[in-house]
Amino acid sequence: MMGLNREKCTTCERDGVVVVRPYSGERLCRSCFLQNFERRVQKTITKYDMLREDDRIAVALSGGKDSLTLLRVLVKIERRFPKASVVAITVDEGIPGYREEALENARRACEELRVEQVVITFEEAFGFTASEAVEGGYADELRLGACSVCGVLRRKAIELGAMRAGATVIATAHTLDDIVQTYLMNALRGDLNHPPIGLRRDGTGALPRVAPLRLTPEREVILYAYYSGIPMQEVECPYSSGSQRSLIRSFLNEFEERYPGSLYAALRSLENLLNRSRGSDFERGTCRLCGLPSGQDLCRSCEIVSSIVNLKAERLRRVPAVLQTAFT
Ligand code: SF4
Ligand code: ZN
Ligand code: ZN
Repeated sequence: MMGLNREKCTTCERDGVVVVRPYSGERLCRSCFLQNFERRVQKTITKYDMLREDDRIAVALSGGKDSLTLLRVLVKIERRFPKASVVAITVDEGIPGYREEALENARRACEELRVEQVVITFEEAFGFTASEAVEGGYADELRLGACSVCGVLRRKAIELGAMRAGATVIATAHTLDDIVQTYLMNALRGDLNHPPIGLRRDGTGALPRVAPLRLTPEREVILYAYYSGIPMQEVECPYSSGSQRSLIRSFLNEFEERYPGSLYAALRSLENLLNRSRGSDFERGTCRLCGLPSGQDLCRSCEIVSSIVNLKAERLRRVPAVLQTAFT
């Protein structure tokens, strides 16, 4: 689908189609695609009433192509609203060999776009890195996949970083694909009782979260990044393969390829289901440790952190006994 050709752009009627949208039949030249992409993000924000004119927007900036794209587009949009501001929150999970490249890309993007950046590490927020949680066997002991630990803690770290930056809203780079994947994963776990992803919910006790790319397919984010010179991370996370999400992702990619438009259809129908259960109170109370909204005594992140801290302490207590055995 990439590469210049002599077909006519369906918007400006000039030669040089670089993007074909099988789900709508549009064929766009580079310049119309980039404009259309940015306009769609703006329309998504308006459609769902995601942002206020005086928001301090914390962009969750991992340094991957999705978040770099979101930052770039939001900075352009925010310039039209003098009372709004953007701050980037970057979480360093501590995954050596993988995170360095993205952290550097995030730092450079903030420098280039003149955006303030707050970097928060798992080590400072929780006392251990994602690698330690996985390589140290703690995730296994808790019968959790690497991404289940890392994903929950990253969400919490973004919240902490955004609070530190005085933000009023968090913008995440979840794309249409990410959101449908999550809904399907929840459905397969028999747990659809969650609020819709990326739609602003004020007054919950946590910062509201919005996903301005929720109507943008992942493939188009890749194309936007490519045609805007946004760097793509080359190294993959060593813990990503075999996750539930990778399985669902390959299934959905193949399905969308064969039946264009399926992702939009899935989003609509799954959100109709969720909207029906909107009346249920998703967070009934607050976490005893961090005070953020939680249906349980401890929120999921505090539960994971306390379990890992306890397991670490238990191992340390066992050391003298091991040493004693070694010397007798
Ligand atoms: Fe964390 Fe999983 Fe993402 Fe790796 S792939 S950074 S372990 S959530
Ligand atoms: Zn055009
Ligand atoms: Zn908590």
